[in-house]
Amino acid sequence: MKILKFGGTSVGSAERMKKVADLIMGRGRGNVVVLSAMSGTTNSLLEIADYYARGNRASARAAIQRLKGKYATHIRQLYSTTAARERVEAFVNSVWQLLGSFAADGYSPQAAKQIVAQGEIMSTNMMTAYLQERGCKAVLVSALDFMRTDDQDEPDMPFIRSRFLPILEANEDADIIITQGFICQDAQGRLSNLKRGGSDYTASLLGAAARAEIIEIWTDIDGMHTSDPRFVEGTRPVHQLHFEEAAELAYFGAKILHPTCILPAKFAGIPVRLLNTMQPEAEGTIINNHFDTGGLKAMAAKDGITVIKIISGRMLLARGFLRKVFEIFETHQTSIDMVTTSEVGVSITIDDPTHLAAIESDLRQYGTVETDRDMCIICVVGDLHLDQVGIEGKVAAAMGDIPIRMISYGGSNHNISFVVPAAYKQQALQALHTKLFLNE
Ligand code: ASP
Ligand code: MG
Repeated sequence: MKILKFGGTSVGSAERMKKVADLIMGRGRGNVVVLSAMSGTTNSLLEIADYYARGNRASARAAIQRLKGKYATHIRQLYSTTAARERVEAFVNSVWQLLGSFAADGYSPQAAKQIVAQGEIMSTNMMTAYLQERGCKAVLVSALDFMRTDDQDEPDMPFIRSRFLPILEANEDADIIITQGFICQDAQGRLSNLKRGGSDYTASLLGAAARAEIIEIWTDIDGMHTSDPRFVEGTRPVHQLHFEEAAELAYFGAKILHPTCILPAKFAGIPVRLLNTMQPEAEGTIINNHFDTGGLKAMAAKDGITVIKIISGRMLLARGFLRKVFEIFETHQTSIDMVTTSEVGVSITIDDPTHLAAIESDLRQYGTVETDRDMCIICVVGDLHLDQVGIEGKVAAAMGDIPIRMISYGGSNHNISFVVPAAYKQQALQALHTKLFLNE
């Protein structure tokens, strides 16, 4: 059994939904399909919730009308039988009614969750009806029956497994099982969600719960690229990544997958393949627990980095200096990304400067503190084991003209990272990419 997840753009119009239906039907029986809301819908729903929150009912009503108009068009274009069209129209009308009802019932944070859930609720209803119209035995199951978070706001895996597996069994003779990404119940059983972009998380959790053969994440790009094609010329899709390499790249700015989303798949050892709805025959990127030897895979960059350097004579031969420094960051609930040390000082990067002033002031008791804002981390991943001699030299040559503030190497066997001023980001990415991936 495969998990097939389609993102908002993949189901963003009637045309796209038809393409996705072809894809789903061409991928065999018994798979589970996870859908996002049609692109733009979640934003519109959040806007509606926000209008209610501010007591602006007229604007909420106008935004509902706009959404209603869009869906009327999608539905008109999608179905060829009156029966299917009327069924879906009746369903989405109940959604507009629900959204309108908050004008009378008033706003609450819980109401906002109910509002924002409607995007996935509508897209899955529409797709199921469309597949059925085409003669496919598609069954829609509600994610609210099995997706749940615990009181730490983390996925409740035992609950998910115990509810999802019987549902799969009960629907064994279905061609396709369809469910909503993103939405879930919270520990108290109230409607909730897995945060923005959470549909990938749903797919990963269900793949792990059901021990799927693979989790396919269908988007509108042909996999993870060697670098971000918006900044770098000559990028190409990466065929394979280890889960850790993918998590590293995702954290350091490759927007394609959220780092936490792939954790359940990683722990369960279920491979994830990134595929392109617009180019379904392309191989995409497979992410699994295999480390390829030899060669570099890809690189990413993360902006908005602040570097803090603490220089202290007292660090020399002193015990516990680093612990005290790290404790300050912990006290101010700021997580550290990168660290480099020498015998007299330590440089640390953070990506959340909210508590910077307090951190600096606490650090001053241990030495001189210097802060550089507007920096950027560039991270290269691939096989950097000890026996891979010469890569550092190539990297250093590529970075020849670029001021480097920090270098981190050896923290793992598959990552080398640099901190450079953000103004040099594009130049550094292009130079590294050309040298390391195009071998020029
Ligand atoms: N519809 C939700 C969002 O736009 C979840 C998702 O698409 O993954 O954030
Ligand atoms: Mg999305």
